[in-house]
Amino acid sequence: MRILLVEDEQKLANSLANNLRSEGFAVDLAFNGESGKDHALTYAYDLIILDVMLPVIDGSEVLKIIRAKNRNVPILMLTARDSVQDKVKFFEAGADDYLTKPFSFAELFVRVKALLRRRLASQVDVIQIEDFELDRMTHIVKRAKKRIDLSNKEYALLEYLAINAGRVLSRSMIMEHVWDQSFENLTNIVDVYIRQLRTKIDEGYKAKLISTVRGSGYVFGKEAID
Ligand code: CA
Repeated sequence: MRILLVEDEQKLANSLANNLRSEGFAVDLAFNGESGKDHALTYAYDLIILDVMLPVIDGSEVLKIIRAKNRNVPILMLTARDSVQDKVKFFEAGADDYLTKPFSFAELFVRVKALLRRRLASQVDVIQIEDFELDRMTHIVKRAKKRIDLSNKEYALLEYLAINAGRVLSRSMIMEHVWDQSFENLTNIVDVYIRQLRTKIDEGYKAKLISTVRGSGYVFGKEAID
């Protein structure tokens, strides 16, 4: 899952981003409205966290611009104001939720999970391919009924592969969804994680779930589907 955080208070932004990353999310940061808007319109995010008081372009303006192009991405507004009119204005402009500053990370994380869960509810929660099972709500992964322990990042990568089962995914597509811009020059990180996943998911099983497509990338579930 990839999140965009648009927040001009750099200390707050960095601390939120670090906390979200330790929960397994890829997080891109933008420190003003213009850059936030550019990111939002360029990359496919699963969630956008948007501060209201921003330099260059105000957050409520950024919200309108994003909504005009993308009706589906959940947007959580961060606001220092707490007036009823502001809230009504945000919801009318297409925000999904808002949080009044100051807030704790725990509070933010609850909102983030709720918004992502709502988004997931409209999609499949359990991905099943032969003896492989991945539950997107609980993050429990099983093969032949045996539970497989994964790190947050391994899970994020596996989920992206499994959602796109049967489709060839290039390293840069994988990078873009599972990692954030701070990893942009480390394309071999994908191969490193794929190797780890193979050890956990495929070792000891006859049908391999992760296949390499020479020169293109990886495909999940191909042998099992064919
Ligand atoms: Ca601000």
